[in-house]
Amino acid sequence: MDIQEIKSLIRDIPDFPKPGILFRDITTLLCDPQGLRSTIDLLAGTCAPLNPDYIVGIESRGFIFGTPVAHQLGCGFVPVRKPKKLPAPVHRVSYDLEYGQDQLEIHQDAISSGDRIVIVDDLMATGGTAKAAAELIEKAEGQLVGCVFVIELEALGGRQNLPEVPIASLIQY
Ligand code: 5GP
Repeated sequence: MDIQEIKSLIRDIPDFPKPGILFRDITTLLCDPQGLRSTIDLLAGTCAPLNPDYIVGIESRGFIFGTPVAHQLGCGFVPVRKPKKLPAPVHRVSYDLEYGQDQLEIHQDAISSGDRIVIVDDLMATGGTAKAAAELIEKAEGQLVGCVFVIELEALGGRQNLPEVPIASLIQY
């Protein structure tokens, strides 16, 4: 399945989660067997040359895409989670949302100094979430070698939040 066919499986939901937002719904892509397989294959093919030791997936849709990519590449998977979900000692970062702040956490012992890390998530909008995940990897002394997204909302300029990291996306709006 090619990129245009994959894109056609993503559903647009107006006014979700609030008025004025056009939400790109990937659940319709996930439930299409060939769409899911092709998306994972393309993500894995994009990540492979970066030669990661770990895929870091961001809660929660980053888990859906990141884990099968790690499986395909034969590397490990590390979750970045919302606060108070991880049971062992964590690194924590706060980041700004449109209204207020949120936090993300990673287990302190999940990655070792110098490990090669690729962040995988479903979508980059402003890039704030990916930047927060990048800060966590820095705290853990990992080496962030790339960020790979299924979808990039180009008009929001998320790449500017991560100017020193190679960024790739399968589908752009
Ligand atoms: P950012 O921090 O780049 O502004 O937002 C990206 C995060 O918000 C990602 O973790 C992504 O899952 C979520 N997100 C924001 N907008 C959308 C959307 O339209 N569709 C999906 N699937 N996720 C979104």
